[in-house]
Amino acid sequence: MSAYGFNHNTAQKHTNAALALMAELGVISHPDNFQIFFTYVAKTNFDLCRTIDILRSNHREFDEAQCKELHTRFFSDKRENEIIERISNDLRQQLGSILDTVHKVGVDTRKYNKALDHFCSYVGDKNRDLSNLEQALHTLLGATREMEGVNRTLENRLTNSSCEITRLREDMENLKREALTDGLTGIANRKAFDMQLREGMMHAMEDGQPLSLLLLDIDHFKKFNDTYGHQIGDQVIRLLAESLKRNVKGQDTAARYGGEEFAIILPSTSLGNAMLFGDHLRHYIETHKVVTKTGRTIIGKVTASIGVAEFRPGEPVAKLIERADMALYFAKENGRNQVASEKQIAKDGSAPQPRDIRDIAAQ
Ligand code: GH3
Ligand code: MG
Ligand code: MG
Repeated sequence: MSAYGFNHNTAQKHTNAALALMAELGVISHPDNFQIFFTYVAKTNFDLCRTIDILRSNHREFDEAQCKELHTRFFSDKRENEIIERISNDLRQQLGSILDTVHKVGVDTRKYNKALDHFCSYVGDKNRDLSNLEQALHTLLGATREMEGVNRTLENRLTNSSCEITRLREDMENLKREALTDGLTGIANRKAFDMQLREGMMHAMEDGQPLSLLLLDIDHFKKFNDTYGHQIGDQVIRLLAESLKRNVKGQDTAARYGGEEFAIILPSTSLGNAMLFGDHLRHYIETHKVVTKTGRTIIGKVTASIGVAEFRPGEPVAKLIERADMALYFAKENGRNQVASEKQIAKDGSAPQPRDIRDIAAQ
């Protein structure tokens, strides 16, 4: 597998299939449309596949408008950009209003200073006409009250602005959280996983600690969809994410990697310890009966296969993922519901005989 997630032959196969399908459906040749149909034939975005399947089964045309809509929905960050733009506009408005108020206060303060100066020179003047004292005091009192009013307005405006800015900051934080969270399960999404893994690899190199990666895939997941429907399938995915949340703690990260695949990053963890953790997790999943929310459908046993690899300092992200993926493939080939290590993959990619997990972990 390459950094794109496919080897050369598979990528070529998907390219040919996407182009053929586009021609068959009369889709205009455009890079955006190619992205849609490549993703569809490669089955790397479940929601997109489901949407296109529904459109196809309803004999809907894939005209320009339809394709544009699909691209916006599945590939563009339009919504995110719109929210960021709104937040920036609101912030600009708030700052403008604060500057206006501060400017006005500056003008009023200068006026007030003038009134004070005027009064000081009046009382300091030996030849002052005391009959004007009452008038002078009256003027000063008026200016002081006016200043008081201005300060009150400033205080109110600043309080309002501060509330508004706090609200905007919360909006920003929510948006950031949303962008890094998987909508179905509430755990980290692929984007967050990529970020965490890169960061973890950098730290591992800085402090010389190991880092391990687990890739987990639900066994025979397709049968849940086929037997109970996609909604129950979704629920199985959600429940598996719950199991991960319960077991993956502290500095470790659990993420939804793709449809029914998950990834777990274990900083400061050697391959051996990651294998033991993987087997603990595998056992936890196997022994927890899956019951749907309403409790009506008892799905029974869900099992998962796990591939484990340890980071080799200096290697690219894709290499580490590739080894974990190969180990996962090995676990599947060997009968599923098991954990396999990169060490079990022979140099030529063939699979040696499986051994006891403790022996592998101890290596
Ligand atoms: P294996 O043990 O080899 O992993 O078999 P499998 O059936 O789990 O694997 P396969 O890759 O053949 O099927 C995975 C299926 O998962 C294909 C797809 O229809 C389904 N799927 C992917 N994402 C989702 C999702 O978000 N929700 C639901 N309900 N199904 C999904
Ligand atoms: Mg899979
Ligand atoms: Mg699977």
